[in-house]
Amino acid sequence: MKMETLSLEERFKNIEHNIGVIRERIAAAAKEAGRNPEDIKLMAVTKTVEPMFINHAIECGIDLIGENKVQEFLSKKPYLKLDNCKAHLIGHLQTNKVKQIISEVDMIQSVDSVKLAGEISKRATALGITVECLVEVNIGDEESKTGLDMELLYDTLHQISLMPGIKVKGLMTIPPICEDDESLNKYFSKMHEIFIDIKSKKLDNIDMCILSMGMSGDYEAAVRNGSDLVRVGSAIFGPRIY
Ligand SMILES: *Cc1c(COP(=O)(O)O)cnc(C)c1O
Repeated sequence: MKMETLSLEERFKNIEHNIGVIRERIAAAAKEAGRNPEDIKLMAVTKTVEPMFINHAIECGIDLIGENKVQEFLSKKPYLKLDNCKAHLIGHLQTNKVKQIISEVDMIQSVDSVKLAGEISKRATALGITVECLVEVNIGDEESKTGLDMELLYDTLHQISLMPGIKVKGLMTIPPICEDDESLNKYFSKMHEIFIDIKSKKLDNIDMCILSMGMSGDYEAAVRNGSDLVRVGSAIFGPRIY
């Protein structure tokens, strides 16, 4: 499907249709797993998407968006109707950009080092705010990926828990690209196990309430494996044009 050839009206209609289909599929996957569909949050991932389409998705009921890049989000933000919609940063965050973003988003899902958490803590404390975040885990242990190595997770959580101005609300992951459903399910279920394990330990100042996993190609599998928040971009807005 070539997006360029679609009219604006068709693109608006597609967004509405896609959101409806995705909500139905999330609900079906949740039911299959014996879960309440209302417990699963649908985030619209809006990187490269123009504000008018994002605003349309919000009019169609989307109340959470995710952006990857600080600069892109800040330049689009004045045009977005965010009164009833939250925004999370989901892309890799450089420490030198922390200052610009922390008071502009509702959560940072991509905290992947003690150093980054320390910078968030420092800046948040200076502003007198508390920044909610998720710790991003590199569940496939891939060299090329962002996210924290598994073996560092518990120690990192402990260190962040001691920092003022930053509050861990859960975990986020992007699994490796999988050839088959079996390996995909293995990564998702491993992630869920870790999430439950940390939650059961009731660590001070760590609030394990959100497990963020699942994207356009795998959100149903993620929901069946315990995801609380799926981050869906291209299945809502169409293929990204960079
Ligand atoms: C782009 C992106 C998504 C959404 O990807 P789609 O495959 O388009 O749904 C989700 N999470 C993160 C961290 C992303 O960068």
